[in-house]
Amino acid sequence: MQADFWYTKSLEQMSDQEWEALCDGCGKCCLNKLIDEDTDELVHTNVACELLNTHSCACSNYENRFSIVPDCLKITRDKLDDYFWLPSSCAYRLLAEGQSLPSWHPLRTGSKSAMHKAGQSVRGKVVPESKAGAWEDHIITWAS
Ligand code: SF4
Ligand code: SF4
Repeated sequence: MQADFWYTKSLEQMSDQEWEALCDGCGKCCLNKLIDEDTDELVHTNVACELLNTHSCACSNYENRFSIVPDCLKITRDKLDDYFWLPSSCAYRLLAEGQSLPSWHPLRTGSKSAMHKAGQSVRGKVVPESKAGAWEDHIITWAS
């Protein structure tokens, strides 16, 4: 992986390893979403996917996630436009919109600590599916 590759390469030029490394591991995309039946609007909830470790904000079974959670999506370059629902802090969205990575991003700080401290991960903000009850009671709006 080239140093500072996110400055020097476009998304299309990045290797698969670099593409994967862009993910900050915030866990925001691992929260369940609902579609409003009246408006077709997509709304976010703070109900975490059953495989999300709500402390580390990482997937607890990344290798086998698609067989356990069929709705889990792989974010790929060719379908980036389909992921309009990604949070505005998401590295893929930021770079696709011509912005840079935030100062707390793990690629810039070397760990996820700064991201957690900046409140940019889902740590401490979500409930597991098993304890959530009705998802409609957990609709949220991301601040950023
Ligand atoms: S929202 Fe984006 S950066 Fe955060 S975990 Fe999901 S894909 Fe990675
Ligand atoms: S299966 Fe893993 S990667 Fe997929 S949404 Fe759930 S926690 Fe996230």
